[in-house]
Amino acid sequence: MELETIIGLEIHAQLSTKSKLWCGCDNDAFGAEPNTRVCPVCMGFPGMLPVLNKEGLDKAVRGAAALRCKIQKFSKFDRKNYFYPDLPNGFQISQYDQPISCKGKVEISVDGKRHTIGITRVHLENDAGKLVHTPSGTLCDYNRSGTPLVEIVTEPDLRSPEEAQILAKEIQKILRYVDASDADMEKGMMRFDASVSLRHKGTEKLNPRAEIKNLNSFVSLFKALTYEINRQKKLWEKGTPPDKETTVGWLDNEEKTVIMRDKESANDYRYFPEPDLPPVTFTDEAIEDIEKAVAELPSEKFHRYRSDFDLGEPEALKLSEDKVLADFFEQVVDLSDNPKKSANFILSVILGNTSWKKSSIVPQQVADVINLLEEGTISSTGAKEILIEAMKESQKDKTAKELMIDLDLEQVSSSNDLGKWVEEVIKTNPQSVDDYKKGKEKALQFLMGQVMQISKGSANPPKVLEMLKKRLS
Ligand code: ZN
Ligand code: MN
Repeated sequence: MELETIIGLEIHAQLSTKSKLWCGCDNDAFGAEPNTRVCPVCMGFPGMLPVLNKEGLDKAVRGAAALRCKIQKFSKFDRKNYFYPDLPNGFQISQYDQPISCKGKVEISVDGKRHTIGITRVHLENDAGKLVHTPSGTLCDYNRSGTPLVEIVTEPDLRSPEEAQILAKEIQKILRYVDASDADMEKGMMRFDASVSLRHKGTEKLNPRAEIKNLNSFVSLFKALTYEINRQKKLWEKGTPPDKETTVGWLDNEEKTVIMRDKESANDYRYFPEPDLPPVTFTDEAIEDIEKAVAELPSEKFHRYRSDFDLGEPEALKLSEDKVLADFFEQVVDLSDNPKKSANFILSVILGNTSWKKSSIVPQQVADVINLLEEGTISSTGAKEILIEAMKESQKDKTAKELMIDLDLEQVSSSNDLGKWVEEVIKTNPQSVDDYKKGKEKALQFLMGQVMQISKGSANPPKVLEMLKKRLS
């Protein structure tokens, strides 16, 4: 009988705030000397009181809204009690029965087919510290203790390790897009717990699952799930499918999972309401504003760029991925009314300058360049030169036209000037004129090159071509 795989993910992502969730300590501790980003609050000293970081809350609800979750008008914090040396308080402040948001969804595309994956809830909690294992013993580093996290729980809607990986990447993209998290895997800013079980295809019941803890890359997420599915398959084939929920660990070096313990249930954590923090409340208007701010996601933008602007897939993808870039692009389109050229110049010229976001170039300059090109006032090479110049700090506040004049890029289109050059070239190249009249198309290209040379590149090529053809017909 055929078996079906059921996967759900729990994703922890660090919010990109300046300070930690309950204190003013620097939240950017990556690479810092151990225990230098700490204070009595995040070290869990007796009597210390947490204060909720507003930026942390803002980023959490923005991320949740982008995952299309309903922001709750009322939510509260709870203590999740467990003992571990990296948790100095002896509890984590998390959210239990009333999280900031629930019931969202994320769309993913698997082999060209769209799937909707349900998001059960998104809640806010703090991270624990870190244990560093050395040959002489285990050390504790509390720099990460108190870092704000969102925990994103999905519905068991995933059917394969591939789907799980695609969803994880999509969520990374969304969190980055709305500036909730940098979600940098290498810095441990995003970690996965993956629950997996099997069942006979066609049945509805969920069987006891194994939860694979703390996967910190897309590759290990994929490999660990694949391994665990095979392990469970063998048990099913032997007639002894898993009969209780377990927590398993993934050994990256050996590429296998090991059973660690029976899975904890909520009872084990003795949750109770956090007495030191007030509940969080939002008005309807505030929730509306949050939802408005994340109205269109990268995947939705991508489809709009494809259908409304007729952009190719790679162009639409690149331009929709990053919010700052997408906003810039759309402003250029608004001003130039030329989506294709806007996309083209932004991707080929502006993005070529790695620090373009810090550069002083504005959408109006790009749109003006496109208009000058379309009118034939400048060549496409000239257009590129102007854009490169416009990105320099020293050229701030100059219009595209001013830059064109500074760089002497205006093409000569007047019939008088062009006519003189054309006549001269015809006079001095009788052989080529003859060749062209005998049907050699290449000779025309040569004559045109000569005109461009005499004009020192300032002649408008399409006009020159038109004039030469007319003159020699
Ligand atoms: Zn602190
Ligand atoms: Mn958690």
